[in-house]
Amino acid sequence: PIALYGADRKNSMGINLANENDLRQLAEQINQPLRYTRATPLVPGYSPSGTAQPITSPQDRRQKVGEWVAADALGVAKAIDNAQGAQSDWDQRPVAARAALLEHAADLLEGRIAEYMALCTREAGKSLLDGIAEVREAVDFLRYYANHARKLMGQPEQLPGPTGESNQLHLHGRGIFVAISPWNFPLAIFMGQVAAALVTGNCVIAKPAEQTNLIAYTAVRLLHEAGIPEAVLQLLPGDGATVGAALTKDARIAGVAFTGSTETARAINRALAARDAAIAVLIAETGGQNALIADSSALPEQLVKDAISAAFGSAGQRCSAARILLVQDDIADKVVHMLAGAMDEITVGDPALMSTDVGPVIDQDALNMLNAHAERMNKEAKLIKAVTLSDSTAHGSFFAPRAYEIQSLSQLKREVFGPVLHVLRYAAKDLDAVIDQINGTGYGLTLGVHSRIDATVQKIAARAKVGNCYVNRNQIGAVVGVQPFGGEGLSGTGPKAGGPHYLARFVTERTLTINT
Ligand code: GLU
Repeated sequence: PIALYGADRKNSMGINLANENDLRQLAEQINQPLRYTRATPLVPGYSPSGTAQPITSPQDRRQKVGEWVAADALGVAKAIDNAQGAQSDWDQRPVAARAALLEHAADLLEGRIAEYMALCTREAGKSLLDGIAEVREAVDFLRYYANHARKLMGQPEQLPGPTGESNQLHLHGRGIFVAISPWNFPLAIFMGQVAAALVTGNCVIAKPAEQTNLIAYTAVRLLHEAGIPEAVLQLLPGDGATVGAALTKDARIAGVAFTGSTETARAINRALAARDAAIAVLIAETGGQNALIADSSALPEQLVKDAISAAFGSAGQRCSAARILLVQDDIADKVVHMLAGAMDEITVGDPALMSTDVGPVIDQDALNMLNAHAERMNKEAKLIKAVTLSDSTAHGSFFAPRAYEIQSLSQLKREVFGPVLHVLRYAAKDLDAVIDQINGTGYGLTLGVHSRIDATVQKIAARAKVGNCYVNRNQIGAVVGVQPFGGEGLSGTGPKAGGPHYLARFVTERTLTINT
């Protein structure tokens, strides 16, 4: 097997790419056929009636990866019945037993890193490096939440009381959790939501993004193999309008963990509120309109490197990605010039090649949205640079990364989810107004700051209403347990994924008072 680099450490370190032998093995394993090529609902006692739909690769739609079958209303009802039947037993298992299953799953997953990288590349168009990061993060979520749940729920909290009275605070699962996960982190975020809900004693019904059903299917099969009972974790592939809507209107759902657009989060919130039922919990991680502010003390080389990775890495399809580079006018010419030069070095193409920096966007809808945005920007803004696409991209959903210079933040109405960076100059005296404008977007996910002036850094950090502020480094790639991730305002409800307060939202508290 490939030697896992730093596997003894708390966070998975993935693969050591400096080791040629490992790299060779990796290349071989990545080219193996996939373990599964058909994603179906995983609901005991139910088989779907619908026909299979093809799964094709974002980098070349002529390549068939597999097929998937959607669940229907019967599948939703059966899954909820199954979960209801399994809930009490699962919640009553000791947390250490649930945590051990997650840790077993983490070990299995880490040992299958090449297989999951291949899946992420073929079904989601992820670059190989992004694939490594994806598996590492999924492994980290499993281990972090397992460890954290043991601490949180291992023993009831003993509380003070008069002589002859024992008071204890116990934590339990809330019930049935629905996990609605995105295609941009089809393994990591999927696993994070599912692991958190499971380890705290909830049954989970997972509804993954339609674009990445096979990754979700393979992950659920792995969790079952690790020992999670099939009625405790079920999978319902399908679209939001049928499967998602049917789940969120059912009175038996206790909570929803969702990552995706702000509009969908609002729709879920409305659906949950409209039920004649107990108030459900909604944990939503949504979009961003993320800025990177650079003052004249920024180091231009470092700034440009970080701007490129934060704006164009993962084809800009991270909710943490930098969308707006606010650069102080004194250094703006130099930075724009360097940015254009550095963009010439970006290789766009087949995500399965190590030499590729930017792969395809997820699908034709995403490409259409980006093309429409580019058309508007071509009229309203000045193009700094568009990366040239090679002929090899002709059959996939490829969008050339590009940077525009804009005149005002008001030119950007909504999040543009792809590799587009908007550069806006500001004068030093306007820094406060700039922070107000960023706050004024209503989003509050990530903010990058490049400045060597401590007072400026402190001021921005104190005033910016964002969940994750990164100074003198790039603003993507939050590490589980190191940079708890998640935003505020239009960007999400909190708590932060990979942080110490996340699990608390998945539990209900029960006080037990005994007169002894
Ligand atoms: N956690 C990821 C990061 O820090 C972003 C997650 C997302 O795009 O939803 O880059």
